Amino acid sequence: SVHLESVTKEFKGHEAVSGVTLSASAGEVLAIIGPSGAGKSTLLRCINFLEIPTSGRIVIGDQSYDVTLNGPPRGNELVNLRRRVGMVFQSFNLFPHMTMLRNVALPQERVLKRKRADAEERSRDLLELMGLGDKSDQYPNRCSGGQQQRAAIARALALDPEVMLFDEPTSALDPELGAEVLTAMKRLADEGRTMVMVTHELHFADDIADFVAVMVSGRVVESGPPHDVLHSPQNERVARFIRATE
Ligand code: ATP
Ligand code: MG
Repeated sequence: SVHLESVTKEFKGHEAVSGVTLSASAGEVLAIIGPSGAGKSTLLRCINFLEIPTSGRIVIGDQSYDVTLNGPPRGNELVNLRRRVGMVFQSFNLFPHMTMLRNVALPQERVLKRKRADAEERSRDLLELMGLGDKSDQYPNRCSGGQQQRAAIARALALDPEVMLFDEPTSALDPELGAEVLTAMKRLADEGRTMVMVTHELHFADDIADFVAVMVSGRVVESGPPHDVLHSPQNERVARFIRATE
């Protein structure tokens, strides 16, 4: 599970995220939507402390960290917080000089100290799960963007995170390749992964999210089940945003 309480992130006196409180229970999918500059990526990055929140509390499973009380996490504490969260970005950043298999296996060896054979076995299973069973020994530049993004998802999953974060994972892909990635994400949701995703694909959010939060100017201005938020929004700004995206 993941729980954010009054999370605020300031950049030079400007609040990119202002007092956001949101949760996803174990096995739930939370979708965050909203216009450009709303603070969606910043909020997502706060969950794994890629950005250190200015204040607020973040709870991942049974581990809780209160920035307001304790200040920024440091050293081992920071490493342990990050380890519980897997993140997939718009750009997939695979190592070009390593096969897909080695890209997925290496972080397990480095971060979890898994033995090479064990890491590679797990990598094969995850590549298979992502529909890349036949790509293990291929180099990334021989694979499509959609295949590379699915390998990036496998790489994050391989570290056994408590929650997976996705920041517009399909926005750099053409629609057909994006659809493959969405299918892979749907499979993870169906398997009961806890997921927080920033997406502009409202139909996808409607399809797989348990809960949708709409951010505008750093705040959550509307939230609830997709059926309510996406089909009968109460907030006029949200209604306009949803109309514009259709
Ligand atoms: P998009 O849909 O375009 O990806 P977003 O909702 O993800 O937008 P953010 O990237 O979180 O928005 O940005 C929110 C605000 O914070 C913006 O005004 C942005 O300029 C600002 N911001 C983000 N990162 C930084 C930074 N490192 N330093 C200063 N300001 C930043
Ligand atoms: Mg963003």
